[in-house]
Amino acid sequence: MHLTPWSYRADFAVFPLLLAWVGVVSLRPASPSQTEMWLASALAGVGLWTLLEYALHRWLLHQLQPFKRLHDAHHANPSQLIGTPTWISASLFIAVWWYLLRELPRPAAGGATAGLMLGYLAYSMLHDAVHHWRAAPGGWLAHAKLRHARHHRAGARSDFGVTTDAWDRLFRTASTPSAAPVHRQARP
Ligand SMILES: [Zn+2]
Ligand SMILES: [Zn+2]
Repeated sequence: MHLTPWSYRADFAVFPLLLAWVGVVSLRPASPSQTEMWLASALAGVGLWTLLEYALHRWLLHQLQPFKRLHDAHHANPSQLIGTPTWISASLFIAVWWYLLRELPRPAAGGATAGLMLGYLAYSMLHDAVHHWRAAPGGWLAHAKLRHARHHRAGARSDFGVTTDAWDRLFRTASTPSAAPVHRQARP
């Protein structure tokens, strides 16, 4: 949905604070083995996020109403401030943490939640960057911008991953760089 400049960027302030809160609550006090469990769970959470990012984008935002209609607005106007309000995304992650706390040891639940949130924060920042930042030609961000621009081509059904193209490669939805022309508003 359309957001104000302040609410569009609220993720970038709120999620680091949430990450710190989850880290303190789930790691204090913690033994070395609990800290290792936290770190391993956080790593798994980041990896799981990349798969969630791909799956939610491909099958929820592109196929299921009313999410498709909301996401279509972003495709129609890629440079506009359209996204998920922070109060909704933060509430969902806190609900995930609450659920995991019932199923897993405290460090594992906290680490997995922190990893998922870190992945979401990276996704939010990178999706903002590919649409609104300038990138040095040939650099990593320029490559990410071109890949996402191919996703924004009219009728394209490829390149659903933003933080990584690993799942696009695995599920054979990665396009080739020559599959331009790219979208006017998403070019680097
Ligand atoms: Zn899309
Ligand atoms: Zn986009």
